[in-house]
Amino acid sequence: MRDATLCVHHPVVSEEGYAGLGVPVHRASTIVYPDADAFLNRAERGVDGYTYGLNGTPTTRTLEAQLTHLHGGARTIIVPSGQAAISMVMLSVLLPGDRVLIPDNAYPPVRTLCMDHLAARGIDHTVYDPMIGAGIAALIDERTKLVWIETPGSGTMETPDVPAIIAAARQRGVLVGCDNTWATPLLFKPLAHGADFACEALTKYVGGHSDLLLGSITVADTALHQRLRKTLSELGIGVSPDECSLALRGMQTMALRLAHVGRLSEDFARRLVGTPGVETVLHPALPSCPGHENWKRDFKGSSGVFSLVLAPAARARMATALSDLKLFSIGASWGGTHSLLAPMEIAGIRTGTPWPHEGPLLRVSLGLEDADELWDELAGALRRLAD
Ligand SMILES: *Cc1c(COP(=O)(O)O)cnc(C)c1O
Repeated sequence: MRDATLCVHHPVVSEEGYAGLGVPVHRASTIVYPDADAFLNRAERGVDGYTYGLNGTPTTRTLEAQLTHLHGGARTIIVPSGQAAISMVMLSVLLPGDRVLIPDNAYPPVRTLCMDHLAARGIDHTVYDPMIGAGIAALIDERTKLVWIETPGSGTMETPDVPAIIAAARQRGVLVGCDNTWATPLLFKPLAHGADFACEALTKYVGGHSDLLLGSITVADTALHQRLRKTLSELGIGVSPDECSLALRGMQTMALRLAHVGRLSEDFARRLVGTPGVETVLHPALPSCPGHENWKRDFKGSSGVFSLVLAPAARARMATALSDLKLFSIGASWGGTHSLLAPMEIAGIRTGTPWPHEGPLLRVSLGLEDADELWDELAGALRRLAD
């Protein structure tokens, strides 16, 4: 071979005796076939086979298989973000004329997706009270094709009665998707309760280090998996194996990280009850939190995210009280090693059920810093918010 060819065709070295513990990063657009016939007949490889980089490489498949095992499902698909996991489910299931039911505590971009993107394409939505339980049956009509659940809800932390909602939907042959980002499959497994789609923002606890964006959809039914794969490949959606490799690394420590922040968040939440300026602590492990009984029945524990409803006067003090923090950063996308605070306004988002609180909400995501230092800084910020 001449130099230019040698530059292109790398030598194949022996892998004999080589074994590592990490998952190799397989990057590919082209998948090479043994002969022309294999290429011409590549559709026969099916959705699980390797046909083109967009549809996955062994790195992606490893992450998919790991999530499938954790969820007790049949297949998982990795998508570019948690929001993409939600939109891909909706786009593969819903057609013009159909309706989706979404909870009032949904991750806010879900509502925008329904209001702007889906509505413009003839798919409408109804917003339901997350505490509706079996009452959801009254909202299901012949146009309803999907019920969306988020548990606990983004920011506001209500834990719905998932088994009751799923039972009502299944009785009418309606599919159910569940955003399980707060719990991860370590604390709650939606498929075990009969959900058709378990969605996760891997961006949060699986990635675990605030440096990647990925989402996953796990299903128990291979027909749904094929439907999703077809949608993704037609829309041209795939993920980078480098991102998957980071998620695989994050997953290694997820159980330990989650156990730590879960214990801490429950401890902080209990200690914060009655703090001046904190009107309500919204943490599913507290009996005062809507859906606490559902959480106790269905969940194995807590993660590190909860919210505080502050007194209305805190609004004017938010900027100064949260400035110059050393440990807590201000920002969205929780679940990393760094602790975060995010001020939120809920009343204007809600359309199904009036939000009963007047003050602003402060979402807390606990990270892995020293627990006493975190407590001191949070307590100090709350004092400044109160007076
Ligand atoms: C963050 C989040 C998402 C979206 O995840 P991205 O990867 O940021 O798109 C979806 N659902 C919930 C509950 C989330 O917290």
